[in-house]
Parts: sequence; C-alpha cells; structure tokens
Amino acid sequence: MATNNAGSTKGFCFAATVFSALCAVVAKTLIERRTEFQHALRAWYRTHARSLPWRDEPSLYKTVVSEFMLQQTQVKTVLPYLARWLAELPDFPALAAAPEARVLKLWEGLGYYSRARNLHRLAQQVAAWPTMKRTPEAWRELPGVGPYTSAAITSISFGAPAACVDGNVVRILARLTADATDFRDSASASKSFTPLAEALLPAASPGDHNQAMMELGATVCFRHNPLCLTCPVQAFCAAARRGEPEAFPRLAAKQMEQRSVTRVWCEHEGNLLLHRSAAGARRFANIHELPTAEQAALDPTRVARGELLAKKRRGITRFQITESIYAAAAPRRPLPAELVWVSLAELASLTLSGPHRRWVAEIAAKRNA
Ligand code: SF4
Repeated sequence: MATNNAGSTKGFCFAATVFSALCAVVAKTLIERRTEFQHALRAWYRTHARSLPWRDEPSLYKTVVSEFMLQQTQVKTVLPYLARWLAELPDFPALAAAPEARVLKLWEGLGYYSRARNLHRLAQQVAAWPTMKRTPEAWRELPGVGPYTSAAITSISFGAPAACVDGNVVRILARLTADATDFRDSASASKSFTPLAEALLPAASPGDHNQAMMELGATVCFRHNPLCLTCPVQAFCAAARRGEPEAFPRLAAKQMEQRSVTRVWCEHEGNLLLHRSAAGARRFANIHELPTAEQAALDPTRVARGELLAKKRRGITRFQITESIYAAAAPRRPLPAELVWVSLAELASLTLSGPHRRWVAEIAAKRNA
C-alpha cells in the first residue's frame, strides 16, 4: 500500500512537472507571438469597446474615481453614481475640500465605504502635490491604491508601462495558456500571471492594451460560457483549443464563514432608532444601520421572542451574515452617543449602508400599509 501511494505521488508529481513545463511552452509561444496578439486585441477593442464616461472624455480624475468605484462593483451599477459624483465633485480640489459626510452620502449604496474614505484622502494628497506624479510606485503610496489600481491609473493616464492584472486578466491569461496551477486565492493567481501580463504589454499605448484586456474579460471571456467563437484572440488560446475554457483558472473556492446577528426595529412617535458607527471604525465609519440588540443594550434572546419583521442575508468580505430584525420597545435607559433617534421623514438625508437603506424602506412600507 505504502509503495502504491509513493508510486502514485511520484506519478502525480511527474505529471504536474510535465504539465507545468507544457504551460511554460504555451506561454513562451504566446510571448513570441505577442505582436500579433496585441494587434488582434487592439483592433477588436477599437471597434467593440463600450462607450463609457471615463473612455469617451478621459481625464486623470475620472480614471481615478471610476477605478475606485469599479473595485468590487459592476459597470452598470457604477454609472449613475459616477454621474452624480462628477456633477458635484468634478475634480481633485473639489473632492479634497468636501466634508467626509457628503463624500459618504454620494457613495451610499456602493458599499465598501473604506474606498470612499481612501479616495477622499487620496484627493487631499494629490491636490497638495506641487507637480503631478506619473509612476505606479508614486501612486501606490496613496490610500487605497494597490498594484492593480496604480497600474490602471498610470498606464491609462500617463502611458506608464505597467500591466493590470485583475480577476478578468487572470482568467484570460490562465485560459490562453491552459495553466492548470491550483491557486489558493486570487491574489496569488494575480502575482503568478503578472510576468506574462507584463511580457504581453506593448510599449505604445499600454493603457489601451490594459483596457482591452479588461474589456475582453468583461464582455467576451466570461467566467461561464465564454464567447470563444467570436473572441479576437481565440487563435492564441490553448484552453479554447482543448475545448474546455471553463476549466481555467483553477482557484480554490472561497470559504465563507456563517454569522448571525439580531437587530432591533425601535420606532417611537415617528422616529427610528439607528446606530452610527464611530468615525474611526474600519468598515462602516459614520454609516447608520439598525442597531443590534447588544448595541441597544437589549437581551438578544428576549428580543428574538418578539415579532420578526424581516430576515435578510448579506455578504461582507468572507462572512455570510444572516440578519434577523425584530420589533422591540425603545430602551428606557439613557442612550449611548452612537445610538440616534431619526425622524423617518429625515432618513433620506442620512448615510445608511445599502442593505439597511433597502430593508428600512421595506419594513417601514409594510408597517404603514
Ligand atoms: Fe476566453 Fe474563449 Fe477567448 Fe480563450 S478563446 S480567451 S477562453 S473567450
């Protein structure tokens, strides 16, 4: 038995080594044909790129704001937010001078509010630069800017030779090379494909090339059912040749941790009790939500014997959270500073997290029906 295991492990290692050597050969061939690849991609991008505000009338500011908004959020969701944002905060000085509460209000519903706070702080730093900095290294010093965002901003705005490697690009490169490496997460996959992405980057218009790769991932090389028959780089794609594009990339499934939370709906004379996170809170600073039973100093077990108004689920990073919202009597004791009574009529002027904005509207409508 021991001999068999050792034999099969050896066999597996040998197969893995041969396979990784084959991937390296495929990647090398792709790099040798990079000029052809770049031309095919660029020609397709010129005729097929979607019309988007940051492309139609590009500016550094629009590129920066759109890149922040597009982290974790789809283009169609971002478009109305970006239009409102640009109308009110049209440039770095305007954003730098805006109060944080206003910035968060404009961001309300996009989620991941640390992006808005980082963008605000970034604008304050950029507005104070005596001259514009144009390298990815300089931009990476700014709040909320990692390797991908710095490459996107500086390649698009300044023609810096920096390759963008996000989930879309990883998917395309893994398929082009049929790379069957098992990646533990998307960060390690991005790191692994960065040298190939850099080798494929043209010296002329690297920003267009980066945008073309992202566009290909967003509109053709879908995670499921990629449109290989109409793909401009199908002739270079090892996964399509093997007839199994969806087998790549091989990323370990994200482990989600389940959490439950009991929240309270305390309504009194047209006012609703809300919890406002502290200004220094990591995720939801200055954002209002329905309080948890503990925040309202109520016993969760007793609260859970009351009327269940809604049971909702939401995902935050690696947590899948079930939020049960119960009607509860207002706490009698003096309230801590982070609990505030808000008139239902004035809710619109506050910043709530996106899910709580929807849930509050839904429950209020049901109770007033
Ligand atoms: Fe993706 Fe298919 Fe194009 Fe390959 S041929 S890059 S799998 S869409």
